[in-house]
Formats: sequence, structure tokens, C-alpha cells
Amino acid sequence: GGVLSDDTWLGRALGQGTMLPHVPLTEVGIQRGVLRADDGLAAAFGDVRVIPVFAQAVPLGALIVASKKPESFLRSQIDALTAIADLAGVAIAGAQHHAQVILQATSDPLTGLRNRRAFDQALRDAIARSKRSHKPLSLLVADIDHFKMVNDAHGHQLGDRVLVEVAQVMTACARSSDIVARIGGEEFCMLLEDSDGVGSAQLAQRVRRRVKKIEVPSEIGTISVTVSVGIAQHQLHGRDGATLYKAADDALYMAKKNGRDQVMMCPIPSFAPEASELPL
Ligand code: GH3
Ligand code: MG
Ligand code: MG
Repeated sequence: GGVLSDDTWLGRALGQGTMLPHVPLTEVGIQRGVLRADDGLAAAFGDVRVIPVFAQAVPLGALIVASKKPESFLRSQIDALTAIADLAGVAIAGAQHHAQVILQATSDPLTGLRNRRAFDQALRDAIARSKRSHKPLSLLVADIDHFKMVNDAHGHQLGDRVLVEVAQVMTACARSSDIVARIGGEEFCMLLEDSDGVGSAQLAQRVRRRVKKIEVPSEIGTISVTVSVGIAQHQLHGRDGATLYKAADDALYMAKKNGRDQVMMCPIPSFAPEASELPL
């Protein structure tokens, strides 16, 4: 398994799915390589067999067996190893397919960001973690301003280009522990673990400023957009995903009403903190 570069004999062999250097494959068929004495690796061994592992015809790796004694592997043993390599290939293909299905179910195909479903789950998980660790957690909801006008003026395809660029800005601004998602047409969320009001506001402003600098060329001039951002903090503005999201969305609405291209922190706690959580 692992990554094979093309400039190794095994890499070449697997890349071609057929040949190993100096090895006549006529005996074993072109899908199965057998390495013999005149290869460098084989020099230390009397008998080296390389059995490629394929997942749906894609070479992934190889099962390699070696012995000091020349000609030590029996045909029946090679057949058994070949069967094992084939089974491994099937198992790996199954695992890859499973990973692919998960990815498709949780990501947005246009931007590659998490989709709403994955975001909802991530939000629940992050809230649970924040409750345990007592570390702050902030939620940003960002919505592109007057995005309908972009589509109307430049077409849906260029609108999509803008969405991709905005997604890239968010990802670039995020730390590796932050979660970025596209949760609707032109609406994005960022979940910032261990970020308080100050930290999340700084990040939101950075996103806002960088989105403003995006330039997508179009036939009728350069497209630029702005975003409005609402922020809510776990505990202060909401204790569960739905309430927290609602609080950030309310703040976003205020940013829109206030003129767009700005960041708003949810101002009014929707409830007082529990007494036990007040600082002494
Ligand atoms: P506001 O500043 O109030 O947010 O105005 P807006 O025009 O951005 O908001 P509105 O909700 O009226 O319109 C959102 C537009 O986003 C409508 C739709 O044309 C566009 N949109 C939604 N999803 C996609 C998408 O996947 N691709 C493209 N190109 N446009 C999309
Ligand atoms: Mg919008
Ligand atoms: Mg919107």
C-alpha cells in the first residue's frame, strides 16, 4: 500500500499494471508480475514475488513475498497469495467507495465545503465539546450581499465562480480547527472553536475585507461582492445548535438592515447565563 512514485520499479510496474523490469510475464499473465534474480531488489533474495493489488482495475499496491532460497514459492502458494491480493483489492475498493459516499453526502460539490447536513452535525459536536471543556465557541453566518444582482448581471455560471472564490477566502481565513460550510445558496457558516467574541469578530472582519477584494473577470467588467456577517457565541447567545444559529442569523439580519458589508455581534443575550456559570 502507500504512495508509490513512478520512478521505482514497483511504481512503474503498478502504474502500467503489467511489467516489472527484467521480468518476462508470459508465464504468469500480464496482470501478475514475478520478480526474479536479475532485479536489484531480488539480488538479496533467491525468489521475490510481487503480486499487484488492484481496486477496480486501479493499481493500489502490491503484496510482496521474498525468500532467500531460489525458486522457493510453489505455484499453489502464489495462487493463494494472488487470491488474497484480489480479496484485499475488493476490500480496499469497498472502503474507498464508502469514503466516497460519505464525502458526497457531507460536502457541497460546487465549493468542496461541508454542506448543511455535515455542518449541523459539526455544530452539535462542537457544542458538546464546548460544554465539556468550557472553552468558548463562536458561530459566524455570512451571506453575500445582493447576490441576486450578480446572477442577473453576469449569469449563474459567473455567480458560481464568485461562490467558489468566497468559499476559498473563508477557508484561507479559517484555522485548521475551524469548520467552514456552505449551508445555503450564498450563505456560509464558520464554526470557531476556542474563539471568543473578540477573536470571532476579528476573523469575521478579516473575511469581510478579503471577500471585498475578490475580483472575478466577466465580459462586462470585474465582479466584486461584499458579505454581511452575524456572530453568536455559545452560552451567551444560545446553548443548542438551533438557538445559536438563530442568534447569529438575527445578527446577520441586522447587518443587512444596517447597510450590508459589515459584521454584527448578536447584541442581546436571549437568556441570562445560569448562576453557576457566572464568574465569582
Ligand atoms: P441580500 O443582500 O439581502 O442577501 O440579497 P441577495 O440578493 O443576496 O439575497 P436573495 O436571498 O434575494 O437572493 C439570493 C440569490 O442567490 C438568489 C439566487 O439567484 C442566488 N443563488 C442561490 N444559490 C445559488 C447558486 O448555487 N449559484 C448561483 N450562481 N446563485 C445562487
Ligand atoms: Mg444574500
Ligand atoms: Mg441568503
